[in-house]
Order: sequence, then structure tokens, then C-alpha cells
Amino acid sequence: VTVTTDIADRLATAVEAAHVLVGDAIGEDYTHDEALTVAGRRPAAVVRPGAAAEVAAVLRIANEAGVPVTARGSATGLSGACVPVEGGIVVSFERMNRVLEIDTENHVAVVEPGVTLQQLDEITAQHDLVYPVFPGEYSASIGGNVATNAGGMRAVKYGVTRHQVLGLEAVLASGETIRTGGKFVKATTGYDLTQLIIGSEGTLALVTEATLKLYPRLRHQATVLAPFPSLDPITHAIPRIVDSGIGPLILEYIDMMTMSATTAFVGLDLGIPETIREQALAYLVVMMENRHEDRLEEDVAQLADQLAELGAMDVYVLPAAAAGQLIDAREKSFWVAKANNADDIFDIVVPRAAIPEFMTKVTELASENASWIAGCGHAGDGNVHLSIFQSDPDVRAHVSKEMFRIGMALGGAISGEHGIGEAKKPYYLALEDPVKVDLMRRIKGAFDPNGILNPGTIFDSGDPA
Ligand SMILES: Cc1cc2nc3c(=O)[nH]c(=O)nc-3n(C[C@H](O)[C@H](O)[C@H](O)COP(=O)(O)OP(=O)(O)OC[C@H]3O[C@@H](n4cnc5c(N)ncnc54)[C@H](O)[C@@H]3O)c2cc1C
Repeated sequence: VTVTTDIADRLATAVEAAHVLVGDAIGEDYTHDEALTVAGRRPAAVVRPGAAAEVAAVLRIANEAGVPVTARGSATGLSGACVPVEGGIVVSFERMNRVLEIDTENHVAVVEPGVTLQQLDEITAQHDLVYPVFPGEYSASIGGNVATNAGGMRAVKYGVTRHQVLGLEAVLASGETIRTGGKFVKATTGYDLTQLIIGSEGTLALVTEATLKLYPRLRHQATVLAPFPSLDPITHAIPRIVDSGIGPLILEYIDMMTMSATTAFVGLDLGIPETIREQALAYLVVMMENRHEDRLEEDVAQLADQLAELGAMDVYVLPAAAAGQLIDAREKSFWVAKANNADDIFDIVVPRAAIPEFMTKVTELASENASWIAGCGHAGDGNVHLSIFQSDPDVRAHVSKEMFRIGMALGGAISGEHGIGEAKKPYYLALEDPVKVDLMRRIKGAFDPNGILNPGTIFDSGDPA
């Protein structure tokens, strides 16, 4: 079913006519996200609601007509989850971008879904508070973060989006609006619908408001960089660093190839002597934060001693500017992979102690299949980000599937934070327990009986229940 003139006219009564785009008025941006393997598609209409009531009116029209609807935040997603259905409707949240409240007594922010991470960070900073989820792309929206359960580098200390969302307002496919949770951390009052909607990639409901936890913004930060002769000692060092009680904010590993490509990409010279650079096969980046400068300095000194004992070739405490640039470069690693023509990227998660075994097996798999992989990862939480270079789609699909199988056999999962979307769907459906997939289809059927919300994402199209 597509958008007829009649449906377009009705949409123009649901939101202001100027915010219903059809035909050539639909810019190319609305056709895709950042996934490397999912081609863009043109929707028949883009609507830009300004309020939850308008979202509800749009969904009532779409549901009645059976037209597919794809929610769109900032389209920075990496799994093709906001690529529209041809002939369908895109609901773009760009106009619902107000921070409704910063509640400094309950330490929460109440925001509309189109608020970006950058915007929220600027506003919370004015109150000496912080929303601690920092996925690598700050133009991403809170609605997109909620729908993908975004993670990022600080998850090792603060957890991911699902740990920070206290409540939601969401519109069901029928146009009915529900509110879940609230400004409290404890709730044992029926099924937790907040958590069910988080990570559902726009397939269960459209989020129109989120209540988020805020934390005191700790003023002092320090970043330590340690080159290692291989990845193995890094992964053995991680649990020891966690045991030490310094509470790292960031614990990342970056392999040698990714380090040289990303630092070159942003023009960053970390001043590491050539002799070390030649021998270092992996780097550990540890960032810490504290309320007190002297305590932070003590932690840095303790960490430096510990890293030396754990096999680091050297330990560098980076000046603030270089540290900021390094984290920024790490966050840009996706663009570096893309610029270097990576054929796909992965964000497999395994228990953090299993990273060495995972990497050994995956490196063997890649070389057996004449493929090349490089990467970095949130070493503190086992989330390994790999780029694969293999232009033959059949070989790449084989290597990818086996890579996921290896990760899952080690107790991991296909995606730690990017989601399944359309990009990883074939692997998910092939490898996931069918009993769970069937249960999820039935949950989808309860939320969205006509299957209009983001069909083709996570599951194949067709009757969702
Ligand atoms: C350079 C780069 C680095 C990145 N680093 C990270 C990282 O470290 N960690 C990480 O987790 N991700 C990372 N990402 C991926 C991406 O930023 C996240 O997935 C982010 O959460 C997407 O937000 P968005 O607003 O762009 O969502 P979109 O791409 O617009 O949408 C993503 C999904 O959310 C749904 N959606 C959007 N808004 C709503 C809504 N209001 N209600 C219901 N569903 C909705 C869409 O339908 C889609 O399924 C990175 C991306 C880039 C380009």
C-alpha cells in the first residue's frame, strides 16, 4: 500500500501542510542512514510532526490505510533501520527537538525525541549535570538512541541508554498514546514497557518523549594511552584495571592499523617514538574522571604503575587537547573505515574476557577466506568494532555469519549497540533461537497488529505475528 493523493491530503490535516513532503520535495537525506550495506529507498511522503498529538494523528491515518511508517531521528544509524519502505511514510522527528525540563531536584531531563546528544550536553553542562551516554556521533537524536539502545565508550562506567531511560511517552501504531515509567528508578508495576520499547528499532511504537537520568558532571578528567606488543595483554589488563577501583570512564583498545589510520585522518601526532610505534600492535586508552584534581592525579599514577606491570611498552598521560583529539579520532573510526572502502562494519559483543579468543578465531577465519579485518573496541564492555575488507559479497556473507557464530558461541551477541536493522537481519534470523524470534514476532503483533511500523527491520516482512 502506498500514499495516495487522498492519504497525502489527510496527512496535511494531521500536521501542517508545509510539513508534509512528497515527490521531489523529499531530499535525498531522507532515503538512507549511514549503514554501508543498505541502499537508500524513496518514501512516498515525509511528515515532520511538531507534537505527540500530530504523531498520533499520522499513525491513525497510516494504520487505517495500512501504509508502512519509518521513524527517523538524525539517520546516523549503522544498521539500515531508518531506511524507508518504498512508497511508505517517514516520520521525521527533527521538529520535536525541545528539552522540556531539566529537573535539578530529581536529576532528570525530559526531552522530545529530536533533541540531539550535542544539544542535551550543552544544556546539562549549564547545570553542572551530564547525560552520560556518548555514542560516537553527537548529532544522533535521543529518539534514535532509545530505539537502538545506543551505547558508546562510557558504557563501562555508566551503562547504555537502557540504563538511563526512566520513562517514555510513546504512540502505538493505532494512534493510542502510552506513558511508561517516570521520574523514579524503582518500579515493579507490571511488565516493563519502557525497556521493551528501548532497542526495538522503531518496530513497536514511536517515542515522543523520554525521561532521562542525569548525573553530576565531574570536572576533572585524565586520559592515559598505553601501547602494547599485542591485544592479548590488553584484554588481560582490563579486569585488573576494573578491580583496582579507579572506575574508568573509558577503556578502549585500538589496533595498530586503526590507530595509524584514525590519527592520520584527523592529523593527530601523539608524540609516540617511532621505535614504539613500530612494535606496538595495539593500544589501550583509559580515561578517568573525578571531582578532585589531586585524587585524579593519584589514580593516574596508580594506573601508570599498574599498566607497566601488566606489560605496557610505555605509558603516556595525554595533555587535555591531545586526549580530546584522540577520543574524537576514535569516534571517527567509522568514517575512516568508510574512507578506506571497508565493505562492512560489525559491533559484535562478547564477554570482555573472551575478546582474545574471539579475535584469534576471527583473525584465522579472515585469513582462511582471504579477507582482511581491522578494528578497535570498547574493551571494557566486550564490544568489538571490526571493519571487513572483502569485496566478494558471498565470501563476505560467509565470513560475517561465521564471525557472528563465533561470537555467539563465546556467549556474545550479534550487535552490542548498532542494532539488527536490515543490515544484520539475515544473520540474526539464521543464528538466533527461533523460539525467541517467534516470541518477538508475537510481541510485535500485539503492539502493531497491521505490521505498519518499520516492516523489514529485525524481521522479514509479512505477517509479523
Ligand atoms: C561516526 C559514527 C559513530 C557512531 N558511534 C556509535 C557508538 O559509539 N555507539 C552507538 O551505540 N552507536 C553509534 N553510532 C550509531 C548511531 O549514532 C546510533 O545508532 C544512534 O542511536 C542513532 O540515532 P539517530 O537519531 O541517528 O537514529 P536513526 O538513524 O534516525 O534511527 C535509528 C533507529 O531508531 C528509530 N527511531 C528514530 N527515532 C525514533 C523515535 N522517535 N521513535 C521510535 N523509533 C525511532 C529509527 O526508525 C531506526 O530504527 C555511530 C554512528 C556514526 C555515524
